[in-house]
Amino acid sequence: MSMPGTASPAEGAQPTASSAAWLERGRAVIPGGVNSPVRAFGAVGGEPRFVVEAEGAVLRDVDGNEYLDLVGSWGPMILGHTHPEVLEAVTAAASRGFSFGTPNPTEVELAEEIVRRIDPVESVRLVNSGTEATMSALRLARGFTGRELVVKFAGNYHGHVDALLASAGSGLATFALPDSAGVPAATAAQTLVLPFNDVPALEAAFAEHGAGVAAVIVEASPGNMGIVPPTPEFEQAMRRLTREHGALLISDEVMTGFRASRTGWLGLSQMGDAPDLFTFGKVVGGGFPVAAFGGRAEVMAQLAPAGPVYQAGTLSGNPVAATAGLTTLRRCTDEVYATLDHAREVITGAVTEAFTAAGIPHRIGRAGTMFSVFLTDAEVTDYASAQQQDTALHARFFHAMLRRGVHLPPSAFEAWFVSAAHTGDVLDRIVEAIHASAREITA
Ligand SMILES: *Cc1c(COP(=O)(O)O)cnc(C)c1O
Repeated sequence: MSMPGTASPAEGAQPTASSAAWLERGRAVIPGGVNSPVRAFGAVGGEPRFVVEAEGAVLRDVDGNEYLDLVGSWGPMILGHTHPEVLEAVTAAASRGFSFGTPNPTEVELAEEIVRRIDPVESVRLVNSGTEATMSALRLARGFTGRELVVKFAGNYHGHVDALLASAGSGLATFALPDSAGVPAATAAQTLVLPFNDVPALEAAFAEHGAGVAAVIVEASPGNMGIVPPTPEFEQAMRRLTREHGALLISDEVMTGFRASRTGWLGLSQMGDAPDLFTFGKVVGGGFPVAAFGGRAEVMAQLAPAGPVYQAGTLSGNPVAATAGLTTLRRCTDEVYATLDHAREVITGAVTEAFTAAGIPHRIGRAGTMFSVFLTDAEVTDYASAQQQDTALHARFFHAMLRRGVHLPPSAFEAWFVSAAHTGDVLDRIVEAIHASAREITA
């Protein structure tokens, strides 16, 4: 594929007739025309692009437009799209069979790779999505402790699990209200939602409900409200209080795992002692539907068939998908993380420079190689402060970038994802687009 912008007008409106037509066809047979809501561009307006091909840092849509991709399939494409080594391994695996319904060597090798990288994980079960991983980790924690209450934090996303689609009502420590139609009030009532990074709120919740808490689940370093890292005090309080009260601590590394650093957020955390359970997804599948949950062998031994907590999956450990994950992880070398970090530095540097020059209030959220941009000048430490940002301005910035051939996440509350293919000319073009877009939206 050629580089975006080489032959196309960099700033004009792109042809989108074919994407619009596919959206219409999609809407006739798929709710909203999309299979995951954020793809519908609801937060930024306009029409989503229907992509037919991707390579390296580039997406190409049905109208022939090319975009430099800062979504990376929401994290998995850490090596860049269609990495040749992964493609070769996946093609070879597919030629040997798609799914066996028996154990296979590749799933064992992927589990070994996860255990090798993440020290506190001694045993791991493969599943098909991050949602399944957090759902299963919760069941395991409840089975292990014999308790039912779960503590989560406002603005932390753990997939569309009933018990975790809960939002805080008023008050410091509140039992949750369902955040989606169809979530039973009784299920939400077993979830306690607390403000993130708030040690006193956590202490108060444990003082009142500690004996009933099965688990605290936390995004290792939240990325689903923009990047909002935990304070060391907060991390340490979660570890101390769960231990004191006999609850498990579940670190959701579905987004940060194998991305924030070689060892995910764990490698950057200042918690001291490690969490009990971890969930992984996104990078661990290299673009295929693979996720995992794992932790201490003693806890994991409670899972069927070894123990009484049931969990299963027809396609879990699928040999083709596991090959994609395994090859991706093996290829995620220190050099790859250095490349990601360089891309982060270049892009956030350009944002700071361009937004400062244009007088746009902003803050950069950062967790290792991961970053996001908040359009606010207030410090962002939790969900309430993240919500202070100017989402209308973000929508204008998003479209200014899109017109220049750079595809940002279509929401102000998402991380920007770079890959090993975000180097050299790709970075130059992104930097150029940032400066021009910042000028445009303040003109
Ligand atoms: C994406 C994500 C999930 C959900 O994963 P899916 O594969 O979309 O079900 C869970 N937790 C975190 C932190 C995530 O970023």
